[in-house]
Amino acid sequence: MSNLRFRALTASMARTENPGFIANHPASAYFGEMTFHRGLMRQFLPEETYDKLMAAIDSEVRIDHRTADQVAAGMKAWAISKGATHYTHWFHPLTGATAEKHDAFLHPAEEGKAIERFGSSALVQQEPDASSFPSGGIRNTFEARGYTAWDPTSPAFILENTLCIPTIFISYNGEALDTKTPLLRTIHVLNDAATRICKLFDPDLDKVTATLGWEQEYFLIDTGLYRARPDLVLTGRTLFGHASAKDQQLADHYFGVIPSRAAAFMKHLEYEAHRLGIPLKTRHNEVAPNQFECAPVFEEVNLAVDHNQLLMVLMEKLARKHDLTILLHEKPFANVNGSGKHNNWSLMSSKGDNLLSPGKTPHENLRFLVFLVSILKALREHSALLRASIASAGNDLRLGGHEAPPAIISAFIGSQLSKTLDKIEKSTAGLSLRQNKANGKLQINLPKIPEILQDNTDRNRTSPFAFTGNKFEFRAVGSSANCAMPMIALNLMVADQLHAFAEQVTALTKKSSNREMAIIEILRQFITSSRDIRYEGNNYSETWIRQSAARGLPNLRTTPEAVAVFTHAPVIELFEKYHVLSARELKARQDIRYEQYTLRIQIEARVMGDLATNHLIPVAIRYQNRLIENVKGLQEVLDAKTFSRLSNHQVQTIKDISDHIMEIKTNVNLMIGERKKANLITDSAEKANAYKALVLPHFDIIRKHVDKLELLVDDELWPLPKYRELLFS
Ligand code: ADP
Ligand code: MG
Repeated sequence: MSNLRFRALTASMARTENPGFIANHPASAYFGEMTFHRGLMRQFLPEETYDKLMAAIDSEVRIDHRTADQVAAGMKAWAISKGATHYTHWFHPLTGATAEKHDAFLHPAEEGKAIERFGSSALVQQEPDASSFPSGGIRNTFEARGYTAWDPTSPAFILENTLCIPTIFISYNGEALDTKTPLLRTIHVLNDAATRICKLFDPDLDKVTATLGWEQEYFLIDTGLYRARPDLVLTGRTLFGHASAKDQQLADHYFGVIPSRAAAFMKHLEYEAHRLGIPLKTRHNEVAPNQFECAPVFEEVNLAVDHNQLLMVLMEKLARKHDLTILLHEKPFANVNGSGKHNNWSLMSSKGDNLLSPGKTPHENLRFLVFLVSILKALREHSALLRASIASAGNDLRLGGHEAPPAIISAFIGSQLSKTLDKIEKSTAGLSLRQNKANGKLQINLPKIPEILQDNTDRNRTSPFAFTGNKFEFRAVGSSANCAMPMIALNLMVADQLHAFAEQVTALTKKSSNREMAIIEILRQFITSSRDIRYEGNNYSETWIRQSAARGLPNLRTTPEAVAVFTHAPVIELFEKYHVLSARELKARQDIRYEQYTLRIQIEARVMGDLATNHLIPVAIRYQNRLIENVKGLQEVLDAKTFSRLSNHQVQTIKDISDHIMEIKTNVNLMIGERKKANLITDSAEKANAYKALVLPHFDIIRKHVDKLELLVDDELWPLPKYRELLFS
């Protein structure tokens, strides 16, 4: 038992009893202690500075130089009191990950001494030498500089003795090089649009905030076993591996008792997340073996996105301390569930109402319906954009697979709301108003909506975009994704429809004078024009694939198809209309996505070729030689008749092994040939499409034969940890 796999397995058994992790205090005692939250700001900042900072955060008032200086001083004092020695601007470049470059507070002073220095210039703006981040051609060398600028709406935090300051990342010309810049812009745009609608009902309402509650799925794998799988290490997923005899078919893992090793990790994760102010709330086993989920209480969308990015970093760091490795890939294992990150999204008014919650009065219900229907209309118009926003090579493997929504975007609202919308659509304008006998005022005659929708009984888990009683749940987001892009798409497309709604109401009110009647009339029009995006049936079914095509809904199955949408005219128009991203910035983002897709498949193809050729085929040959020796031996000791009767099996296996090896070699060579051709293509879209159409199809064939070999070759020789070991240890 000398091979790496067996050594890893033995070590993993020894590790099963994990030291565990215990936090000795209730979470409320340490929640947020590592983040510069409002309470700490009040403590560390002069009152006037605090007020000015709050005005900047809440009402987008600019921060003056003096205030910034004082915030920097307060932040430094707090950070040093917590043991921080360094600071960094923390940003989200277009790689999808987070970036940081640490600088020490330390500054040499007179007489060989040193002081800690951190002023407003260090807080507000930095110029990291970040020219290697993908920019999609936005930064030519002469303008290669990129700037990070402080985002005061997301509080600074301390991670491993470094003060991290959330920032945007833009080019010398002010073009966005990150995901946060456009996100903040859409938050602003959505606030304007939603407030405009709210004011139709309540003139006092002056702000609307988008909220996000994500649910993060992940796999936990023993680090020793992980290291013995080059495919996991280099690509985040298994490129080979025969299915385990038992995996998720008994559904015995889902919501089951959390294994103690995983539980120790989760407690540790929650402790550190809570100290950083990430309000993690739930944890449970997911459907696949060794698959888990955690979810926080929802927050304002910018903060929620930052918190999710930070959590993914924390997960990777902390898992290591438990000899575990986190897999955030959307499909680490074939034939068992993949991992997603449901994005629960809603809108909250400045009065604290959830605008996607049906209200108590007809008036509130009418407002609710305006929001609901505008969202449906937004989806109808821009479902392709929403699909594009979650496109990645990893997610392509998940969408439409086990328990994951298909690539066709539709919305589920449940039977109660469907009936309500149908009724409104069918009613005529006159029917919608009646005179109140008591006060003679006109009243809306809306179909009744129960205050609490039966979301729990009326759920459709196959829908990619489902209304769940007081929020929409976007389920197509991949587990490793940065939530910013889907949130950007959603915020913006909804804002556009809310504006359209308000404009049409204003125009109609001028003509017909009664505003509520105008609202209902526009509502009716929106219901009709968004009808096709509503689907209550089984999204996994063949029927839906046909039906959605008949309705003209896009079915963008792969990343290259989806990413093309970023430069389609309606998308450019939408982004430019609200100054969120220019056509050039969209093109840059598109190029980066094509490139990342190509690079992923390229790396996978290389790993596949290497593993098959250098790790697995040699082992198969070694085993085959043993069989050949065995057959030769049998021939020596047996008479001819017995030999021919008894050696059949071995001889057949010898032949089978050769057949599989031949198929593998042929396909690896074909794949390499296609790669060489594709690599000569300079256009990023064409190249991504070549990788998809000509390189990727070889994966399944190579895998099929390798997985067959796994079943034939002596278990003791097989070098890669098997599915049963990865998923059940
Ligand atoms: P399920 O697994 O059934 O979808 P969970 O309870 O795991 O439900 O997750 C629900 C998620 O929805 C949580 O992350 C929660 O914070 C979020 N959520 C609840 N209300 C809102 C809201 N108003 N806006 C955004 N997210 C919300
Ligand atoms: Mg969910």
